[in-house]
Amino acid sequence: TPPSGAARPRLTFLGTGYLGATYAICFAELGYEVIGFDVDADKIAKLADGQVPFHEPGLDELLKRNLAAGRLRFSTDMAETAAFGDVHFICVGTPQRADGMGADLSYVEAAVTGLAQNLTRKALIVGKSTVPVGTAEWIEQLVGKHTPADLGVEVAWSPEFLQEGFAVEDVLRPNRIVVGVKTEWANGMLYAAHKGVFDLAATEDREVPLVVTDFATAELVKVAANAFLATKISFINAMAEVCEVAGGDVTQLARAIGYDPRIGNRFLQAGVGFGGGCLPKDIRAFQARAQELGAGEALRFLHEVDLINLRRRTRVLQLAADLLGRRYGPAGPDLSGTRIAVLGATFKPNSDDVRDAPSLAVAALLAKAGADVRIYDPEGMENARRAQPDLAYESTMHDAVRGADLVCVLTEWADFRNADPVALGELAAGRRVIDGRNCLDSALWTQAGWEYRGMGRP
Ligand code: NAD
Repeated sequence: TPPSGAARPRLTFLGTGYLGATYAICFAELGYEVIGFDVDADKIAKLADGQVPFHEPGLDELLKRNLAAGRLRFSTDMAETAAFGDVHFICVGTPQRADGMGADLSYVEAAVTGLAQNLTRKALIVGKSTVPVGTAEWIEQLVGKHTPADLGVEVAWSPEFLQEGFAVEDVLRPNRIVVGVKTEWANGMLYAAHKGVFDLAATEDREVPLVVTDFATAELVKVAANAFLATKISFINAMAEVCEVAGGDVTQLARAIGYDPRIGNRFLQAGVGFGGGCLPKDIRAFQARAQELGAGEALRFLHEVDLINLRRRTRVLQLAADLLGRRYGPAGPDLSGTRIAVLGATFKPNSDDVRDAPSLAVAALLAKAGADVRIYDPEGMENARRAQPDLAYESTMHDAVRGADLVCVLTEWADFRNADPVALGELAAGRRVIDGRNCLDSALWTQAGWEYRGMGRP
């Protein structure tokens, strides 16, 4: 039962990356007064000027509208942010640690410490970043150390499930809200902080399920969800590996098993695998944390999930060697003298995010094998250039394909799915295509004279 009576709290979001900026903007849209805080002054200046510093459909318009309405501000001033907010959401990055497995919590620590030291009244600090289980307890101690006990500052946890490319919709219309709380006060404040979401749902005759639980469960829900999704993708990619040697077609297999509602057809597309700023690092950090807690064996399968995922990248290299008539030796193929167009740099379409993108990783592998690789992506060029400055980029799809001996489609952008294989065939030096996302109409490409290879398809 929702607690009642809490007035509409003022909200802050610490860390205005994909998660925090989207939240700050969408919650202003829901009618809350909001400050977005970041230590990156350039990012804050851009946001304050009405520019979203990344690509997310629909967000630009909401930013401009809510800045104009005066409900939304952006700041690098922690004292101002601390004084303003009743509920402070921690949305900073938790990247993979340099040593490989665990999560780097230094940004969380810096943000929470800075906030706690500046608080002068009771407030609720809510963690949203994806963290190892146990972090909320640690933050509670940190807050206790840096705020006077009589302020009564409290901590809660509310993991985040938004998907880049659908982020506005996911924030305004989430399929569930999960909160980890210790007190009725925290529960009431968090409910009030989300009341706009529940009210919107009510006007649309929907319900948003609310799961109220303890800290540890709330933290685990997020990594469990990501572990499940990663496993689902690696499961179908493992089936693709088997199809490749048995002569089956994984796209038909996926369709056939997906009709079983217990399995479901979503997240069951075989391809070059998952990437991005979440799934790969989250499943590694989850294993590391489970090991620390003495439950390493329970998550050993996630290591296999990771390996299956990474093997798909090498598979593209094998297909490329095969199509180009090069031998695949123990050190990989020698692709020198060949020209390859890589279409797609982001880890998924409708995003400019290239973090751990399979497409860019494959492009780097092809280049390392000696190929002259030319990359094009509709939104990810700037980030890709920054992440992989040594690779070569073209400013249109046609420029990338012109003169190529092989075309690799590695991100399923609509521009690529809907591309005309006849027109592209006239530009390419050789009509060979690897469909790394099984997103092309293979019959259409074959008819246009292309030698087609999908993932897990004959
Ligand atoms: P991001 O890298 O886009 O943004 C992180 C932001 O935090 C940056 O703008 C950075 O400048 C800022 N920051 C760093 N230190 C700070 C500090 N001390 N104070 C204030 N700001 C600081 O990352 P993201 O994709 O937004 O992810 C943030 C968290 O949310 C991660 O834990 C991630 O796992 C989780 N998450 C992300 C998504 C997603 O789709 N991106 C979805 C769910 C959960």
